[in-house]
Amino acid sequence: MKCWNLFLLILFCGLIIACTSQEQKALEAFESLKSDFVDDLWDLNPDWALAVGNHDYDDRLTINNEVYRTNRDQFLAHYRTGLNAITADRLPQLQQIDYRLIDNYLQAQKWNRDDFRADTWNPSSYNVAGSVSRVLNGRYAPLGERLASLYNMLDLVPDYYDAAASTLEIPTKPHSELAVQQNRGTIRMLDSALRDSLSALQESDEWQGDQLWIDSFSGRIDRAIAAVEEYVDLLNDTWLKPQNGRMGDAGASAGQNIGDEGDDTRRGNGNSRFRDFRIGSDLYQQKFRFDNVSYHDADHVYREAVQRKEELHQEMMELSVQLWEKYHPGREMPDNFSRVRMVLDEIARDHVHRDSLLQAVQAQIPELEAFVTENELLTLDPEKPLVVRETPEYMRGFSIASISAPGPYDSGGDTYYNVSPIDHLSAEEAESFLREYNNYTLQILNIHEAVPGHYTQLVYSNQAPSIIKSILRNTAMIEGWAVYAEEMMLEEGYGDFQPELWLMYAKWHLRVVTNTILDYRIHNDGYRYSREEALDLLMNRAFQERAEAEGKWRRAMLSQVQLTSYFTGYSEISNLREEWKAHKGDDFDLREFHEIFLSFGSSPVKYIRELMLE
Ligand code: ZN
Ligand code: ZN
Repeated sequence: MKCWNLFLLILFCGLIIACTSQEQKALEAFESLKSDFVDDLWDLNPDWALAVGNHDYDDRLTINNEVYRTNRDQFLAHYRTGLNAITADRLPQLQQIDYRLIDNYLQAQKWNRDDFRADTWNPSSYNVAGSVSRVLNGRYAPLGERLASLYNMLDLVPDYYDAAASTLEIPTKPHSELAVQQNRGTIRMLDSALRDSLSALQESDEWQGDQLWIDSFSGRIDRAIAAVEEYVDLLNDTWLKPQNGRMGDAGASAGQNIGDEGDDTRRGNGNSRFRDFRIGSDLYQQKFRFDNVSYHDADHVYREAVQRKEELHQEMMELSVQLWEKYHPGREMPDNFSRVRMVLDEIARDHVHRDSLLQAVQAQIPELEAFVTENELLTLDPEKPLVVRETPEYMRGFSIASISAPGPYDSGGDTYYNVSPIDHLSAEEAESFLREYNNYTLQILNIHEAVPGHYTQLVYSNQAPSIIKSILRNTAMIEGWAVYAEEMMLEEGYGDFQPELWLMYAKWHLRVVTNTILDYRIHNDGYRYSREEALDLLMNRAFQERAEAEGKWRRAMLSQVQLTSYFTGYSEISNLREEWKAHKGDDFDLREFHEIFLSFGSSPVKYIRELMLE
């Protein structure tokens, strides 16, 4: 008997050892694959490397020519084989997510190459401004060193635009207009900011006095500008300008007013020489899968958004009745949508002075942190303070507020909450802006951007640093978390259930919801929304001003699926919380749910869900 037991024991140990060594082998193989993958990824996409703060490739550009395409195909094939040789199930949980992220990336790239083919129809994907300005504005090296990189980079600009011109087949109109507009900006930057920096170098202590180099540099700037001009002319002459009565109306607005005529291919009108910017249902569904990596498909998320819109409308109707007397005492109460709008208009008058926006944001962060801590919603790390600052000049013009976090290659840097100053706005513009970011909305914005939204999520994801999760991070999860955080804070009693806050929240949240509906209805067969239909939805059903609605229509023509990422992530996280609640029963604890959820980093909710509910 003893012998038998011993035998069993030995057998058992043998199994464990065999098993762990298989797991060990898988992990080693995967670690080595990841490290090669990242190196090769940057080698193939130097502009992407630059964008994430890796400065080893600063003097290069991604030139979309035959050589590049061959290398890319080899890259995709090589890592496909590499992944297939590793059994994902043998890896630790966080590594399994990295595995699936790489897998999804390879599939998405292959799909983009074979089916989506954006490089053949999106002329605005070709622009050297991003790379040039990252090196020019970077603070990571002395000016002389950065200009030396740009000297080499500029030499590649003519090849870069040659490759663009020969890759393009039939572009869309809005992307062509955008390309012209943005590349004209590139010409201005090369001609002014870059030349100014060259002069600044000559006047600095760094300067060693090589006039030949300066002359050669100027020559390269000239040739680079000529290459961008040629590209802009090509787009204008071939596509945008009217040609002898053929589509005579098409070019009138080239370079400006993007979107005014972007609609000329509506419902498959075959007369246009442009490709329709609406990608159609098949490509849309596929892109939704690759970009959002949701456990639901596009149709499901769309239906949830439509339902959510109805719920929000209902809540807004009720809240506006409740608030009517307070804001419009003695006045007759109009019907539904006009009543909501009139109450919203009055509440919006409660806003900060134009000079104290930054201070107002600064003052709110500690209040939000205190609320999160007192209500045990999450454990916050006191060691990682958030620095609130004015948005640096070169980053302005995109949004009122954003988070700048150190990238994977400069960890240790501070995290900033950028707030854009509004001193350039006229009195009227400033008033409209401040009404939009009134004292209620500003709190929701701070929840979203900072605590416990983007900033808090980032602190958690940095606790398990992963280069793969950082590079291939999932937007739907990141934005979904920030949107989820807004509602969760209000539900937990932040703002003492003031009806004003809830009404403003409903309007704010309706934006995310209608973004999803709009994106879906623009791109999918059966809807193919026109500009008028889009503006009607945004202005009459989501209470947006015309300027905002027009900006959204333009963004929706230029992107696909991106606008759905916020609501997709939000609805997935909300649903997951309910599933987790059912799974935990009486042991459910909100803080525990949040902390476990965030511990997986910026990964698709779908992957987190599978691991959490396993
Ligand atoms: Zn005012
Ligand atoms: Zn966000």
